[in-house]
Amino acid sequence: MPSAPPSDRELDAYRAKADRFIAELDEETYLHFAGHKDTYELVPIYEKYADLTELEKAQWIGMAVNGGSRVRELWRFACEGYLGNLTRDATERLAELEAAIKANVDGEEIPYRMIRPVMANTEDRAKRQRLEEARNALTEEHLNPLHLETTEVVHSESPRLGAPNYAELYRKFGYRLDELAEQCRGFLDTTETLWEDVGDKLFRARVGVGLGEAQRWDVIRVFRGVDWDPAFPGDRMVPALEATLGDLGVDLRSQRNVELDLEDRPNKSPRAFCVPIEVPERVVLVIKPQGGPDDWRALFHEAGHTEHFAHTSPSLSVEERRLGDNAVTEGWAMLLEHLTIDPAWLTRRLDFPRPNEFAAEGAMQLLWLVRRYCAKLIYELEFHTSSDITSMRSRYKELLSDALKVEYTDTDYLSDMDSGFYASEYLRAWAFEAQLRAYLRETFGNTWFTRRDAGSLLRELWAEGQKHNADELLKAVSGQTIELEAVADRVREALAAA
Ligand SMILES: [Zn+2]
Repeated sequence: MPSAPPSDRELDAYRAKADRFIAELDEETYLHFAGHKDTYELVPIYEKYADLTELEKAQWIGMAVNGGSRVRELWRFACEGYLGNLTRDATERLAELEAAIKANVDGEEIPYRMIRPVMANTEDRAKRQRLEEARNALTEEHLNPLHLETTEVVHSESPRLGAPNYAELYRKFGYRLDELAEQCRGFLDTTETLWEDVGDKLFRARVGVGLGEAQRWDVIRVFRGVDWDPAFPGDRMVPALEATLGDLGVDLRSQRNVELDLEDRPNKSPRAFCVPIEVPERVVLVIKPQGGPDDWRALFHEAGHTEHFAHTSPSLSVEERRLGDNAVTEGWAMLLEHLTIDPAWLTRRLDFPRPNEFAAEGAMQLLWLVRRYCAKLIYELEFHTSSDITSMRSRYKELLSDALKVEYTDTDYLSDMDSGFYASEYLRAWAFEAQLRAYLRETFGNTWFTRRDAGSLLRELWAEGQKHNADELLKAVSGQTIELEAVADRVREALAAA
């Protein structure tokens, strides 16, 4: 253990270097997942910044944490860097394997990362099952051993960072996981019969079986919403985004710090993503526009991240620009994403048939997702305090199947997890979005997204980066505290209007 905490000058030097380290990792992420390069070379970057991720550095910064959230964020960064460094080889191999392995289904070779998208587009139920089984076999054989290796490292190393286990470590970072898990139990409870009712109808309409008979391979098909494809053409995605942002006073094409990567490449991730390589100077939005409701949703989600980071004030500290509470950036992402299930937006932007019906389906999907993440958070809290990880296989299956009323397999008990309790950020972001949207509608009307003054408020809030956490931000704007139950209200309202 170091003998004295870092001085302010030493902290400054550390955060400046951290800023470069994150930029280089982000650039590598961009290059690999946008299909510019097949390899995913994290090791040279970790080696170049080796001193940032040493155990002693994490412990040293930990000594400077005394209630202040800024240094605590830097401490979390140092701890995550330390764990990330120990698992970097496995992470690299996982990404490279995911890009390389292929399933052979009905004589056709399908890259691993394309199996789920192909499944979503497959009407034949038996074929979807074969795809799922091929995917599960690949996951078990190639990926799970690496996931297991990573988890074991994270679990055995957490005590050296000053917490008896990984969950306790995040509580020390200020994550109010238990309070949130309590809200999750409440949400699962209050929305259970609602989900059983609307979920069952939706599954029957889409895949011909009710919740009780539905399997994992039906889910992606249900939410693919193929019937709505004609309303969401691929070539109108980017123009619709530009027009929406334009209404809010943001001219996407003239934003010199926003790069749109629209080109098609064979190994480009089929799903849109945003990489804030420099905040706010260089934010990349990567898209492979294919159309369909899901693709539109993903684009608007990532555009929410993009605008948040691109508007972040350059004068903020590294912690406030790059670190902080990710429920904030996820909340901004959800706010734009959920425009695509907002009847008022659909009517204005797309000349949409039956907008309330689509909005109701969007609400069902939201209900599915939030229930799923509630179960995931409860699972992850158990998982990260468990002394025998492999015994958690059956627990995963049990918790997820119980929340969703669809039979889960246990294959994804390691891979269906977000490191750093990211599930908790999503959950708080969903609540933040539901509450903020209600506030925007009250203040600016149901078509708030067409109002320049609403845009000014958003830009003002985006400029704050992640200086404040989502709770503080919501409190400052609307005077409310974050409540997951707000999502249930949002869902009920959309269902009632249909
Ligand atoms: Zn996101």
